[in-house]
Amino acid sequence: MESKVCTKCNKNLAISEYYTITSKYGSTYTYNYCKKCHYTHSTKAIAKKWRKDNKERWHVDVKKATKAYHGRQSKGVYLLVTTKGLYIGATDKFESRIQQHRTSNFGGNMKFKGAKVLYATLVQEVNDRKERLEAEKRWIKKLRPSLNLVFNSDYKKESKIGGKYIKK
Ligand SMILES: [Zn+2]
Repeated sequence: MESKVCTKCNKNLAISEYYTITSKYGSTYTYNYCKKCHYTHSTKAIAKKWRKDNKERWHVDVKKATKAYHGRQSKGVYLLVTTKGLYIGATDKFESRIQQHRTSNFGGNMKFKGAKVLYATLVQEVNDRKERLEAEKRWIKKLRPSLNLVFNSDYKKESKIGGKYIKK
């Protein structure tokens, strides 16, 4: 196998470890430093310098990317099947919220502490926040998930009318 010594790290490496450029006339040019050095000495350094010189812009871009990511996430009512019962929730960031549930294991609540998420699904897609909360209530009434009886105070208030859980 053809190889050559990198001018930056001095390692003898296979030609495939170097970037090669082919001109439109068919002649090829192989870089004198390897791909790894190409990254650490140019790409990485240039990116680092750019971020340093454009701090404001960099922060704006990060914010934009984060916002775009969240914007792409599903919005709606979701159902969790956990080791300690069902849970209905509403969110505008389904993927992040489920991740949160999976990692926190309902740590805040004594009764459901350590409940592990076995399955999560979006039961209804709702983009509007107000409609989403209404939809959440409807789903709670419909399914009466055990974890919501403690977590959702709205449902508690409604469901305790008359001293027993009401079915609507
Ligand atoms: Zn190298």
